Amino acid sequence: MKRILITGAAGFLGSHLCDRFIKEGFEVVGMDNLITGDLKNIEHLFKLKEFVFYHHDVSKFVHVPGTIDYILHFASPASPIDYLKIPIQTLKVGSLGTHNLLGFALAKKARILVASTSEVYGDPQVHPQNEDYWGNVNPIGPRGVYDEAKRFQEAITMAYHTYHKLETRIVRIFNTYGPRMRLNDGRALPAFIGQALRGEDITVFGDGSQTRSFCYVDDLVEGIYRLLMSDYVYPVNIGNPVEITIKQFAEEIIQLTGTKQKIIYKPLPQDDPKQRRPDITRAKKLLGWEPKIEREEGLKRTYEYFKSLTPAELTKSAHRFS
Ligand code: UDP
Repeated sequence: MKRILITGAAGFLGSHLCDRFIKEGFEVVGMDNLITGDLKNIEHLFKLKEFVFYHHDVSKFVHVPGTIDYILHFASPASPIDYLKIPIQTLKVGSLGTHNLLGFALAKKARILVASTSEVYGDPQVHPQNEDYWGNVNPIGPRGVYDEAKRFQEAITMAYHTYHKLETRIVRIFNTYGPRMRLNDGRALPAFIGQALRGEDITVFGDGSQTRSFCYVDDLVEGIYRLLMSDYVYPVNIGNPVEITIKQFAEEIIQLTGTKQKIIYKPLPQDDPKQRRPDITRAKKLLGWEPKIEREEGLKRTYEYFKSLTPAELTKSAHRFS
């Protein structure tokens, strides 16, 4: 039986990855410091003998007894309001955390896949973004703590590959949505659905003409699984190339939820990328991967999840650490 360490296991993507690797017959070691993750996302796994959990911050020395064959490094705050509230932790987990996990991978002779991001492209001047684009990032802006940590992460991961011959993989993840997103993490989809469920107006930032391309979580997990099992060491974009403006997206949520509330406009946050769409030619060619779940279906599934939350969960404060 193969054994995989998944960091950020109690988070949105991490918890779905735990589920997938359990399903594939792996023994899963989950690790999380629970700053933005939530044990509720993996509660159902605790009864399984194939699952263990370590409450640990990967910015500190990482140790797990026994063999580890694969590592998925998904620990990180991942939303713009997180970066503002916990900028130092965001920098540390992407840099020191990645360094620790690369060293750990070397010691265990494990293959490691690190979660990078479309944020390495910053506010892109090339559209759609392919992996050869170097990006347009403001290093000292509010998103810089995340973007630059992830850019450093890619650099150190490649260095471990070239210098130590470590087996590495880098996925650049574009906007992803689905069940288990943190309701109050500030990102567009949970913000809009949360507002609809609480009977509040829908807050669109700027004039809503900025674009994003949203990928359903199951599609993303499939892409990551295929990339981990491939032999390709350079970054690969995984995301859904169907692009939409944020205003259109808000209107879709209004229709889906049947809310009577209206859109209200708020100032656009600093350095908010104006457009974002992945070029997934590389993933298609190398992994035979492309997204399958259309937004209408994905949004329905996601809405079902948010509807199942209790009133207390619907109103609880944005951050455990605030
Ligand atoms: N956004 C918005 N209202 C909100 C939350 C986000 O209009 O309540 C906008 C945000 O300014 C951005 C887009 O939606 O242009 C996607 O934001 P999100 O935080 O989901 O992801 P990211 O900016 O990291 O792609």
